[in-house]
Amino acid sequence: MKNSNLRYSQSKEKSAELLRMVLGHMGQHDAAFNPLTFTVWFEYAAGMNKQLNQAVDERLQSQPRLGDADLLNLYQLHVAEVDPQAMHRIGSELQRVMQSLGDKASLAGGQAGEFGVQLETLVSELLGANNKLAIPAVAKVIEGSARMRSSAQALESEVKVNQLEIQRLQGELARVRDESLLDALTQVLNRKGFEQKLASMLEQPVGPGRSHWLVMFDLDHFKKVNDTHGHVMGDRVLQALGEVLRSCVPANSGISAARYGGEEFSMLMPDTTQQECSKLAELVRTRTKALKIRDRRTQVVVLTVTVSGGMASMHAGDDAQTLTARADAALYRSKQAGRDRITGD
Ligand code: GH3
Ligand code: MG
Ligand code: MG
Repeated sequence: MKNSNLRYSQSKEKSAELLRMVLGHMGQHDAAFNPLTFTVWFEYAAGMNKQLNQAVDERLQSQPRLGDADLLNLYQLHVAEVDPQAMHRIGSELQRVMQSLGDKASLAGGQAGEFGVQLETLVSELLGANNKLAIPAVAKVIEGSARMRSSAQALESEVKVNQLEIQRLQGELARVRDESLLDALTQVLNRKGFEQKLASMLEQPVGPGRSHWLVMFDLDHFKKVNDTHGHVMGDRVLQALGEVLRSCVPANSGISAARYGGEEFSMLMPDTTQQECSKLAELVRTRTKALKIRDRRTQVVVLTVTVSGGMASMHAGDDAQTLTARADAALYRSKQAGRDRITGD
């Protein structure tokens, strides 16, 4: 993958800022410090997961401090699953980082407490009858404040080191998360990835004369490929179509390719003109038609395939379901009209 941060695209500066917010949230609530709670608060702070933010805000109205059960529930309902093993590994590392941060903070806290007592003594002695006692008390306070400063500096540098480490862990979490959004066979987004991208596309603004476009593709007579050449060959065709789709997506275009399911694929094109969309869909169609699937051993071409497509643009009032249904209907018309073609809605 070119960009392993499909879900977490925040810059380093932005993520450091988010991290401070995350630590703030983690400190305010009762739930333990672990990657699960970290992830929930990270997505909440980033405002990248609308459903999650709504759910958290609703809960906070009736309950100011959230516990482990709340966070687990929010995570399960609103944050996608990741590989549990990777999660566990990242979890123990994050716990270690948090632990050492916690130790340092309580050390500084303890010294601040001591300093506080000295201050109180100073004030009461200054206010009290015996002013001479104030002089050694002042010296003590100065000494205490120096100790606290150095302890605060230690905490600060420790926090910096930990921030870097947490950033690394966060990157790793993002990578694991991205993998869970990719289709293993074809290396394009899977259904879950498709749904997330579609939802975020529908939220984005569009320029004049432009819209958000969805193209649904479906291999033609694919059942026959499986029946004639076997499932393994069928899978190779699917892989090849995945490659075609990836090759058609221009770098940094914001366009995504996904496997919708089985032998159906899709492309999401935010803020695009009809001409651009149809040009890209045609490119997918012609590159698919040009594919030559060869026998691995003899290199003899054993089959070629074609694909049909249906394009739909977002209309006012559209949601994911209505937009998908229109693209599907257009795809159906391509099939009816003889396949190997792209139809607009
Ligand atoms: P049409 O042109 O109308 O789309 O005909 P079709 O044969 O492609 O459509 P149909 O829906 O009848 O068949 C789809 C086939 O796709 C059936 C199923 O076995 C095959 N298929 C779905 N997922 C996979 C997969 O992961 N691997 C393989 N090899 N085949 C798959
Ligand atoms: Mg199909
Ligand atoms: Mg088909």
